[in-house]
Amino acid sequence: MDKEYIKKLAEDPKFISGIYNYCDRWCERCPLTSRCMNFALSEEHFDDLQALDMNNKVFWQKLSEMFQLTLEMVKETAKEQGIDLDSIDLQAVADEQESIRDAAENYECARVAKSYSQMVKDWFDSAGDLFEEKADDLSLQVQLELPDSDPAREAAGLKDAVDVIRWYQHFIYVKFLRAIGGSLKETPPCLDEFPKDSDGSVKIALIAIDRSIAAWGQIRQHFPQQEDKLLDILVHLDRLRRKTESAFPNARSFVRPGFDSADKRD
Ligand code: SF4
Repeated sequence: MDKEYIKKLAEDPKFISGIYNYCDRWCERCPLTSRCMNFALSEEHFDDLQALDMNNKVFWQKLSEMFQLTLEMVKETAKEQGIDLDSIDLQAVADEQESIRDAAENYECARVAKSYSQMVKDWFDSAGDLFEEKADDLSLQVQLELPDSDPAREAAGLKDAVDVIRWYQHFIYVKFLRAIGGSLKETPPCLDEFPKDSDGSVKIALIAIDRSIAAWGQIRQHFPQQEDKLLDILVHLDRLRRKTESAFPNARSFVRPGFDSADKRD
């Protein structure tokens, strides 16, 4: 792989520009992998190399190559656009980023999202026995071959719900930090009429909240004995959803490239 190859890939009309900016990064479940250049690049570069094995030397070597390549492209683009990378005051940038992050962390939506992450952790930490009981129960159902039961389906449904909750557990908070941080930076008045990047980040956070609510609803069906605790979590999430919609009234209508736009060619 080289710079020319990446540039050629970027010009391929089958890829939707910027599709990966407002997705949930859950490529395994993404319906638009064939339209995503980011996905194509990672497949191309890491396929068959046990890429996800953190101990794999090849993986880190390839990542290092990608880093060098990216750096070269950044320098090239900066030169083309007349940006002097050496003139940037890194300390000032770091200070600004830190103060924006501090402010973002104090926003109500971010605080509620962070406490949601902790609630998820607490619930799963305390639910070990519940899952063991459920596994025993499902095994028994398999052995008894009861006519009205479908333990495999039940197990798959439970696993899906857990996967969804775990995937979005921290994602929502991180997206809020990005959105709030972005909205705290000044928007030039001439760009006011354009869709805001922060609304795009909030939209995917809202989708993650909706999906998490649905997944907790499924968990509730599997563990009716946990009604009170699960209701607390659901109320917390619903409150977060409503606060977010009120703080970012345009987020729901933000059009995400590929996912919400008409550009869905096969
Ligand atoms: S758009 Fe889909 S394939 Fe591309 S990075 Fe996002 S989740 Fe992965």
